[in-house]
Amino acid sequence: YRAKAKGKNNYKFYVKNGQAVERLQLENDLRQALERGEFFLVYQPKFYVCDGRLGGVEALVRWQHPQRGVVMPGEFIGLAEEMGLIIPLGEWILRQALRQLKAWEEAGLSPVKVSVNLSGVQFYQKDLVVRIAEIIREEGVDPSLLILEITETVSMQNLDYTLSVLKKLRELGVQISIDDFGTGYSALNYLKRFPVDYLKVDRSFVLDIGRDANGEAVIKTIIALAQNLGLKVVAEGVETEEQVRFLQALGCHLAQGYYYSKPLLPVELADRYLAQPLS
Ligand code: C2E
Ligand code: CA
Ligand code: CA
Ligand code: CA
Repeated sequence: YRAKAKGKNNYKFYVKNGQAVERLQLENDLRQALERGEFFLVYQPKFYVCDGRLGGVEALVRWQHPQRGVVMPGEFIGLAEEMGLIIPLGEWILRQALRQLKAWEEAGLSPVKVSVNLSGVQFYQKDLVVRIAEIIREEGVDPSLLILEITETVSMQNLDYTLSVLKKLRELGVQISIDDFGTGYSALNYLKRFPVDYLKVDRSFVLDIGRDANGEAVIKTIIALAQNLGLKVVAEGVETEEQVRFLQALGCHLAQGYYYSKPLLPVELADRYLAQPLS
C-alpha cells in the first residue's frame, strides 16, 4: 500500500512538474514568436441578420508554432498577458489588421469594417490611446472602419477610467464594441454613459436558444436594452438556423458564427465575401 501511495504521489509530482516544464517551454517559444513572424490573423465575417449582407469581419490571432502547428489564442493570450508580451503583440495585431484593410482597398474590393480585440492588459496600458492613434495614422486607414472590442468584464472594472478611455478612442473616430456581453455584471447606469456602438451577446446565451428559457430571456433583454440605448447587437457563436430565426424575430442586427462561416484566411475571405465593385 505504501509503495502504491508513494507511486501515486510521484506521478502527481511528475505531472505537475511536467506542466511547469511545458509552460516554461511555451513561454520561451512565445517570447521569440513575434520576431520570428509566427503569428498570423484570420478573419471571421459577421452578417446582417435581416438580409444576410456582410457587416464586417473580426480579426482573430493564430500562432504558427514550428513544432506544435497552429496554436489557438485561448492557449497563449493569457500567457502573453502575464509576460507583458501582449503589448507588442497587440500592436502587431492592430497594425496587421489595418494593413489587411488597406490591401483589400488597394485591390479594389468593397470596403469592410474590421474588429480587433483589446486585451484587458492593453486596455490598462498608460499610452494606449496615443499608440492606437499613431498606428492608425501610420497605416493610413480610415478610423471609422475600425471597431475595437473590449470585454464587458474589463470595461466594468474601473468605470471612470473606462469612460475616459472610451471617450478618447471615440474621438479618434473608431467604434467600440462591448464583447462577451451578459457574462459580467454591468452597471447599467454606466453602460448608458459609455460611448459605445455595439453589444456583442456572449455565445453562452446563443447556445441557450431553444434549450433554456432563462438564456433566451437574457438575449431578449439585451436586445431590448440595446435598442433603448441606440446600440447595435451582435450575436456571436451562431451555429444553427433555429438560432438565426430566433435572432431575426427579435430584431438582432448582426450575427457571427459557424452557421455563416468559420474564421478565414484573408484570401478566402476576399474570394467569398469581398466582391469587386462594378467599375
Ligand atoms: P472572442 O473575441 O469572443 O472570439 C470569438 C471566438 O469564438 C473565436 O475563437 C471564434 O473562432 C469562436 N467562434 C466563432 N464562431 C463560433 C461558433 O459558431 N461556435 C463556436 N463554438 N465558436 C465560434 P478564437 O479565435 O479561438 O478566440 C478565442 C478568444 O481569444 C477570443 O474570444 C478572444 O477573447 C481571444 N482572442 C482572439 N484573437 C485575439 C486577438 O487578436 N487579441 C486578443 N487580445 N485576444 C484575442
Ligand atoms: Ca471578440
Ligand atoms: Ca466574444
Ligand atoms: Ca467569447
